[in-house]
Amino acid sequence: MQVILVRFSEIHLKGNNKSYFLKLLKNNIKEALKEFNCQIESIPNRYVIKASEDELYHISERLKKVVGIHSISFAEEIDTNIENIKKICQNLKINGSFKVDVNRADKSFPIKSCDFNSILGEIILNNNKLASVDVKKPDKKVQVDIRENGKTYIFSDIIYLKSGLPLSEYRDGLLLLSGGIDSPVAGYMMSKRGMRQDILHFDSYPYTSPMAKEKVIKLAKIIKPYIGAKYMYIVSMTKLQEAFHLNCKTEYAINLLRRSMIMIASKLCEKFSYKAIITGESLGQVASQTIESITTTNNASSYFPILRPLIAFNKEEIIAIAKEINTFETSILPYEDCCTVFLPRNPVIKPKLEISLNEEKKIPLQDLISEVINNMEIIELN
Ligand code: ATP
Ligand code: MG
Repeated sequence: MQVILVRFSEIHLKGNNKSYFLKLLKNNIKEALKEFNCQIESIPNRYVIKASEDELYHISERLKKVVGIHSISFAEEIDTNIENIKKICQNLKINGSFKVDVNRADKSFPIKSCDFNSILGEIILNNNKLASVDVKKPDKKVQVDIRENGKTYIFSDIIYLKSGLPLSEYRDGLLLLSGGIDSPVAGYMMSKRGMRQDILHFDSYPYTSPMAKEKVIKLAKIIKPYIGAKYMYIVSMTKLQEAFHLNCKTEYAINLLRRSMIMIASKLCEKFSYKAIITGESLGQVASQTIESITTTNNASSYFPILRPLIAFNKEEIIAIAKEINTFETSILPYEDCCTVFLPRNPVIKPKLEISLNEEKKIPLQDLISEVINNMEIIELN
């Protein structure tokens, strides 16, 4: 029977907690595959997914977005015995070079791997006139995985997936998602460390268009399968931005906006029990991402850590990942972001915390923050 063999990453490092992580990953796979009619079996060090042949391909596509999976293979599952395995090899059609690779996880199997490699290789050669053995660079590998559950899995390709840790049960992270290239990638990077996240977006309607918001909702839906998001909060920054614009030093507009974003994110962390704020900042990329700017924004969260998984990434590296997770094409659609509204001509590059704090005193900041949170929109992502 044709199945998908699933291997997991990093879980083997988990010692006593291994079974907890295995259960977590299995639940995440179940959740990801809920629209399919399939069975997920646990065997030592692998999962086996069984479904109709038509569905297996679509299942494999969906598995590509589940973090914590090391790799998958489309495999033929048979009962382990020497004759069964030989019979499958007899029927293989191979024209070029090949190599047999036996993995004897089941140590009770009576023939040693290297001996069985030769026996099966011989059978394939006898049945395929155009086949030849090449152990270094074969066109095709015949992999025979003899597992401890009394089953053997025969396959040729290993498809490597995202690896990392399985997403946690709880939504611990709050991802600040703009319409840009970086923040969706930041969310994805944190998901690979097991951090399930919800999403916070700031808009500046009517200065930004409803299309800009739609674009970010689209991005949220693209990254949802990776980051496990359930809710997206949309907070309007318009009132705050107008207040900064009218009352505060223009060159501090972006800095004050950034700090207020973090203050709002911290309040939502408190309210909904998130444990960390995630942003797509990368050191030195723009004026608001100098070390001085980062210092003043950090100060706006008194308790919750701000995680910046892209801090040391180059733009090209970020773009490569954005393409891999399919957010790039949407991110580059040309809509405004709230940071581009009231953009000062000369934003401060090395802001000073005392000045930021002083500027904030000029407006009823806490009242405005409470007001925009009370009026925020909550979207359930599905
Ligand atoms: P991105 O490509 O993610 O937009 P960027 O290079 O444009 O990042 P900034 O505009 O300085 O950089 O934003 C830095 C980070 O602040 C973003 O990665 C995002 O996490 C957060 N951020 C910026 N604008 C918004 C917004 N409108 N809503 C939510 N978060 C935002
Ligand atoms: Mg941006």
